[in-house]
Amino acid sequence: MTEISHRGLLRRWLTLGVAASDSKDLRLKKTVMTFVSSSIAFLAIFWGGLYLYSGYPLSGAIPLTYTVISLSSTLHFFRTKHFGFFCFSQQLLILLLPFLLMWSLGGFANGSVVMIWAFFAPLAALFFIDLKAATRWMLAFIALLLLSAALDPTFAAHARPMPAGLNTLYFLMNTGCGFILIGMMLYYFVKDRETAYLKLQKSETHIRRMMLTDPLTGVANRRHLDERLAIELARQARYHQPLAVVMTDIDWFKRVNDLYGHAMGDTVLKTFAARLKDTLRTTDFMARYGGEEFVLLLPNTGSEEAVALAERLREATRSIRFDDSDLTVTASFGVTTAQPGESMPEVLSRADEAMYLSKSGGRDRVTLLLE
Ligand code: GH3
Ligand code: MG
Ligand code: MG
Repeated sequence: MTEISHRGLLRRWLTLGVAASDSKDLRLKKTVMTFVSSSIAFLAIFWGGLYLYSGYPLSGAIPLTYTVISLSSTLHFFRTKHFGFFCFSQQLLILLLPFLLMWSLGGFANGSVVMIWAFFAPLAALFFIDLKAATRWMLAFIALLLLSAALDPTFAAHARPMPAGLNTLYFLMNTGCGFILIGMMLYYFVKDRETAYLKLQKSETHIRRMMLTDPLTGVANRRHLDERLAIELARQARYHQPLAVVMTDIDWFKRVNDLYGHAMGDTVLKTFAARLKDTLRTTDFMARYGGEEFVLLLPNTGSEEAVALAERLREATRSIRFDDSDLTVTASFGVTTAQPGESMPEVLSRADEAMYLSKSGGRDRVTLLLE
């Protein structure tokens, strides 16, 4: 059984102007514009029919002519996929239609109800092009309005008063369609902005993560360390909780590179960083400070606890095996605690000093330096 649903047909019609290479944004705009212009074109048939039936042949001929021109522009768009011209012609049509109707109905006194439609051209321009285009359409709207005012007595002279009931029907019809169209435009506008905002937020998070991460080891980089240490020092000053800082550096790392190659050196760095990270608590923070040098921030940790942790890390480092090689490495550690009111460079240079004491003391050891 072959059954084409109405939804499927509508969807196909709306996407006839879409090209495979179009961005999501352009697809949305093409679909919405096709929907809006087609809706108005088909409504205009109904509308023109009503006028003809009510004995206003000129007022009826205008919407029907509109439908023919509008659908020609749409079909031209489907064939050429030339969206710019389609947009322009549709907005011009949307701008002109209410004025033509109002004039043919006898000017403001008898036909101003159709002026509701005049608001759509600047709105559509804002949605489909930009603020500048919207302003131009708004100015065109004002110019047509002034022209209408100037010519109003002429139109009024030709007016045939409309029956009250029909006037009410037209008013309800026009207002109803107007509300539906404005609602739809706002919906797509808000949705479009929401999507753009989410995308921006995602790429911002991504960029921030890239800016703060060391690409080789995946741990925080020095910039992130600076940020975090400033926060931890401020917290420490405020809540008087101890903050331990540990600096560590792999021993004889240059030899690893020289004897086993740079690639093996990288593997050692990655594995060493991962092992440290695994041993730390989630509230601890670890960053790559330099080549094979890492800094650990241990909030709420006193000097004794920090030394014990550093000892554990030192032992763990000795036991690491890298790939299938017989290589082992050791690391030297320097431990200190931040004193209240101390600056970032002061704390870091003391941790560095402690680490160098471990180096000069024979490496593969932990040194605590408090002042
Ligand atoms: P010490 O025990 O005194 O720390 O000796 P060392 O050889 O470890 O110290 P040194 O600072 O002289 O050498 C550090 C070496 O680390 C030099 C550099 O080639 C190497 N290095 C720095 N960054 C990287 C990296 O990203 N990958 C690799 N494979 N090597 C690196
Ligand atoms: Mg070293
Ligand atoms: Mg070094």
